[in-house]
Amino acid sequence: MRIPLIAGNWKMNGSLALIEDFGNAFSRTSFLSSAIDIAVIPPFPYLANADEAFEGTPVQIGAQTLYGEASGAFTGAVSASMLKEFGVHYVLVGHSERRTLFKEDDAAILAQARAAIDEGIVPILCVGETLEERDENRFDDVVLGQLDAVMNGLSEEQRRQLVVAYEPVWAIGTGRTATPEQAQEVHASLRARLRHYDENLADNMRLLYGGSMKPANAQELLSQADIDGGLIGGASLKPDDFIAICHAAG
Ligand code: PEP
Repeated sequence: MRIPLIAGNWKMNGSLALIEDFGNAFSRTSFLSSAIDIAVIPPFPYLANADEAFEGTPVQIGAQTLYGEASGAFTGAVSASMLKEFGVHYVLVGHSERRTLFKEDDAAILAQARAAIDEGIVPILCVGETLEERDENRFDDVVLGQLDAVMNGLSEEQRRQLVVAYEPVWAIGTGRTATPEQAQEVHASLRARLRHYDENLADNMRLLYGGSMKPANAQELLSQADIDGGLIGGASLKPDDFIAICHAAG
């Protein structure tokens, strides 16, 4: 039984006022907390405020990235233990914007996943193909390669802590969503690949879809057999939209 997870990635957006708006909206909303997990992933400076504002609601906080080392001379970087001190429950690793804009490679992403797991933080590993890779029918190879690059570097125990988000790069922030069939096809491939590692792991690992998910398309995407939740960008910045997506998952 996989509990759906809806996670809102604010990227470099938001403000103290928006945290407060979300805190108020969440406290007015009745969620069946055991039926669904919910996370808001604001920029680093807002983590403490978010943790406080969401207290008493089932919403947990996540971070958008971390560095794969424990401490040291890494100006600008943030470690897993620091995130832990701020009540962070999830952390994104391998988001396509980090892969492209910040040149994070598979080795860096693996180090981040390990560092998070060592601190008891759940890494949400993002995988996804570009438009060119989809047009060339290489999406399975790309996505499964990104999955294997992390899975192969983790122990059996560590693998069980992972959440995976399939985010086709061509659907992120473009308003162009993968069809439920396209998304399900890749999710099924991911789950089949997980079976090579461990049957039980494949049955239990949550696979999220991300890429222009919004209230209007959430239900259909989330009803697919291998889609266990969503990673939401743009629509996670509006309390009503984000809460509507949470209800579609619950
Ligand atoms: C994301 O960046 O993870 C994302 C899914 O963005 P959007 O929902 O805006 O496409």
